Amino acid sequence: MTAHPMRYPSYIELSKSALEGNIQFLKKMYGETVRISSVVKANAYGHGISEFVPLAEACGIDHFSVFSMDEALHVKKFLKNHADIMVMGWTHPDDLEWAIENGIELYIYEYEMLTRAILCAEKTGKKAIIHLEIETGMNRTGLTGEELKAVRKLIRLNSEFVHVRGLCTHFAGAESISNFVRIQSQIRHFNRTRKWLSKNGIMPDLIHTACSAASVAYPQTRYDMVRVGILQYGFWPSPETFIQFMHGKGVKDDPLNRVISWKSNIMSVKDVNEGEFVSYGNTYLAKSDIKIAVIPTGYSHGYSRSLSNQGRVLIHGQRVGVVGLVNMNMLITDVTGIHGVKIGDEVVFIGRQNENEITVGSFVEFSDQMNYELLARLPQNIPRFVVD
Ligand SMILES: *Cc1c(COP(=O)(O)O)cnc(C)c1O
Repeated sequence: MTAHPMRYPSYIELSKSALEGNIQFLKKMYGETVRISSVVKANAYGHGISEFVPLAEACGIDHFSVFSMDEALHVKKFLKNHADIMVMGWTHPDDLEWAIENGIELYIYEYEMLTRAILCAEKTGKKAIIHLEIETGMNRTGLTGEELKAVRKLIRLNSEFVHVRGLCTHFAGAESISNFVRIQSQIRHFNRTRKWLSKNGIMPDLIHTACSAASVAYPQTRYDMVRVGILQYGFWPSPETFIQFMHGKGVKDDPLNRVISWKSNIMSVKDVNEGEFVSYGNTYLAKSDIKIAVIPTGYSHGYSRSLSNQGRVLIHGQRVGVVGLVNMNMLITDVTGIHGVKIGDEVVFIGRQNENEITVGSFVEFSDQMNYELLARLPQNIPRFVVD
């Protein structure tokens, strides 16, 4: 993409130095023996797989996790080196053959999946590289005790077709202390299963259970690898996790840096007289003469309609409010009193401008989305640009 960012209704910037800082911070926290799998599902949490994956590789990442095979394909296409790709979620049976052929690592959470994977491995002449996902109490996907027994048998009988790369599980809400007891029980369950498997001749290369929150709140869950999503992008999974990390460390500043900024520019500026309504309907009445700036970004571009009369954006380094309803393609801001506002001026939805910053967190308060959701829903067609 060579066109200038300002020629799009809005655009996203990814900060290379922010990501480098975050990865360095994580490596230091986990230590050298723990591998980092960079979780890039949901288009790299809205950051854009095509741009984010090469950046992460440049920071030394050599393992990526996605949810589904279409994402694995997307990552593979943009890899510069030979990082591993792991599908932590859904694989359509018809995609197994391609996955095995291409060395994509697969979560196995159903007996049937394994039988099919073995058939594909026989056919392609390549081993299926699998991670056994254990059901430990989240009650989502994962092999239960009985299934695991059957799976173990199948693996022993087909060892020339299967390589057990990993053993894993997922915790049901490690970002909240209110789930403490449940997580502890999951950890115990996982360790029992791990021991039983090893006693029964299955020794996976990589034990991995932790997402971002668990990697901070329950360091014993790091094992050989951590699956890190939100932290690498510079966000804490929850305020609690942040406090847990900071507690007793004597540091006050957030060690993470936000990688993403989301920006646009002004398309029109005009005066509105006292007593006039702004935008559709009558949700905003000008109580005095005001000046408005119109921005070519609306809910179809990912700026939630629930931010109508609520959202804040940065213009000329100042925080200004969204007035009236957010439209499909436009939103309107009140720029009264800001000198010299004109067409083409930069608008920041997320990120910094001069001394001020709009955080994802502040959006979250107004729009009832968690930071994960807001990021993941940033539309795929917003162009992404890498900056230093
Ligand atoms: C999304 C996901 C992760 C990463 O979660 P973060 O909280 O973003 O670190 C890890 N493991 C699994 C199975 C996931 O689905």
